[in-house]
Amino acid sequence: MNILVTGGTGFLGSFLCERLIGENHTVFCLDNNYTGAIENVQSLLDRKNFSFIERDVVEPISDDLRLPKIDQIYNLACPASPPHYQGKAAIKTAKTSVIGAINMLELAKKDGATILQASTSEIYGEPLEHPQKESYRGNVNPIGVRACYDEGKRCAESLFFDYYREEGVNIKIVRIFNTYGPRMNQNDGRVVSNFIVQALKVEDITLYGDGKQTRSFCYAGDLIEVMIRMMNSRKDFTGPVNIGNPDEFTVLELAKKVIAKTKSPSKLVYKPLPKDDPTRRRPDIGLARKELDWSPTIALDDGLDKTIAYFKQKLGL
Ligand code: NAD
Ligand code: UDP
Repeated sequence: MNILVTGGTGFLGSFLCERLIGENHTVFCLDNNYTGAIENVQSLLDRKNFSFIERDVVEPISDDLRLPKIDQIYNLACPASPPHYQGKAAIKTAKTSVIGAINMLELAKKDGATILQASTSEIYGEPLEHPQKESYRGNVNPIGVRACYDEGKRCAESLFFDYYREEGVNIKIVRIFNTYGPRMNQNDGRVVSNFIVQALKVEDITLYGDGKQTRSFCYAGDLIEVMIRMMNSRKDFTGPVNIGNPDEFTVLELAKKVIAKTKSPSKLVYKPLPKDDPTRRRPDIGLARKELDWSPTIALDDGLDKTIAYFKQKLGL
């Protein structure tokens, strides 16, 4: 199949490209390298069935790209870490989510492709239901600093359903909960990479707020598997479907695990909690279990070991 992966040089996108190339598909990886890096797909660059297209998803797909007819589109292009989508990047993030979605949906419509949207647990905002089920409509601050991402992704979901209803496009939506693993950008600002890099460099471990907020962490390999299952699921299963690991930890528990595993003398320091930082988050993955016969296989302890090994090598330790 001809498969387009937007955001393909990013953390998740690069694993996805690798997996699809391993399955002998022809892969077109489109990215502007805002948070991604070409090194993430270095091992694929000399493969005949892999092409990298340096491009912004906000630009419509045009004939100059000389794409063949595309069968599947994974739409991952969007910064995913709060420091990279807020501040000066906020307007661009909203455009990437919304205009990027329209551009990719138009391509899916033209080629009759199936298109999968990488949505997010952020669409639940500060959840008043716990754990979060797909039927929960969320509690998002529409004018807050996270809104460019949260509302951008919510608007993308609604566009997907409008193209499904009005244009008959085959859509798939996954709502991804916090995912970590090797190849995260060390300056990304997300909690797992921050804590591991801080511990390994013997810097202070920065806990935002009181560290009692919770997240449920999924290992990248588990997530790629379920994304592919979702893309190839029965035609009338559109989602949205939650994907993630339902094992829930406080951020303080995570910090203690990282310190113990790295045997680091780093100290915990408390920093202000970012605005609108959700207090609790845990997916109900009953739908993914039932429809996709999937559940995560890698526990946080094992995934952290693999991720710590990656960063040790990356930092030359
Ligand atoms: P990432 O930042 O490593 O990857 C995002 C990729 O999109 C990068 O390669 C970046 O350069 C690219 N990109 C950003 N804006 C672009 C634009 N305008 N045009 C073209 N490319 C652009 O993050 P990730 O963790 O790999 O996330 C991938 C997707 O999964 C994102 O859509 C994100 O919202 C979603 N997601 C991830 C998580 C997670 O925990 N990792 C959780 C929820 C949702
Ligand atoms: N966090 C933290 N220290 C850090 C980075 C993040 O305590 O150095 C907290 C952050 O406030 C949030 C949680 O860890 O409560 C997860 O943050 P991340 O940015 O990884 O993901 P998201 O907030 O998007 O779930």
